[in-house]
Amino acid sequence: MQHRTGTRWTHQPGITLIGDAAHLMPPVGEGANQAMLDAAELATNPADPDPAIRTYEEAMFTRIHPIAEMSARVQAMMLSPTAADDIIRFFTPQPIEPAPASGRVDEGARRSARPPGKPIAGGRRRMSG
Ligand SMILES: Cc1cc2nc3c(=O)[nH]c(=O)nc-3n(C[C@H](O)[C@H](O)[C@H](O)COP(=O)(O)OP(=O)(O)OC[C@H]3O[C@@H](n4cnc5c(N)ncnc54)[C@H](O)[C@@H]3O)c2cc1C
Repeated sequence: MQHRTGTRWTHQPGITLIGDAAHLMPPVGEGANQAMLDAAELATNPADPDPAIRTYEEAMFTRIHPIAEMSARVQAMMLSPTAADDIIRFFTPQPIEPAPASGRVDEGARRSARPPGKPIAGGRRRMSG
C-alpha cells in the first residue's frame, strides 16, 4: 500500500478527521499513539468546537508530517534487500561520549552520564535516510 505524507484539507466548520482517517501511515508504531493525541488535543476546548478544530488541525498537520516521513523511511528500510542488517544497525546502541583514553568503555559511567529518560543513541533513533 502506498501512503501519502503531507495530507491536508481545507477547514470545514464543525467537522474534522482524526486517527488513520486523517493520517494513514505505515504501521511502525505511531498510528495509535498519534490517534490518541489527536483526540486529546481536539478535546481541549469542547465548549467552543470550531476554534478547537482549527487549532487541532493546524497543530496536527505540523506534528504528523515528520512522523509520517519517518514511518515511510522505516517501512522502506524494513522492506529493503538489506533489511536484516539495517534493522540490527538501527537498534544497536552507539556510544555517545568519546571513549576514555585507555580505550576501555565504562558502561556504568556511560549510562549514568545519559540524561534521565533519554534513550541510548541507536535505539528508536530517527532515520536519516
Ligand atoms: C499490523 C499493525 C501494527 C500496528 N502497530 C502499531 C503500534 O505498535 N503502535 C501504534 O501506535 N500504532 C500501531 N498501528 C496503527 C494503529 O493500529 C492505527 O493507527 C490505529 O488503530 C488507528 O486508529 P483509528 O481509530 O484511527 O482507526 P481504526 O482503529 O482503524 O478504527 C476505525 C474503526 O471504524 C470502523 N469502521 C470503518 N468503516 C466504518 C463504517 N462505515 N461504519 C462504522 N464503522 C466503521 C472500523 O471497523 C474500525 O473499528 C498498527 C497497525 C497495524 C495494521
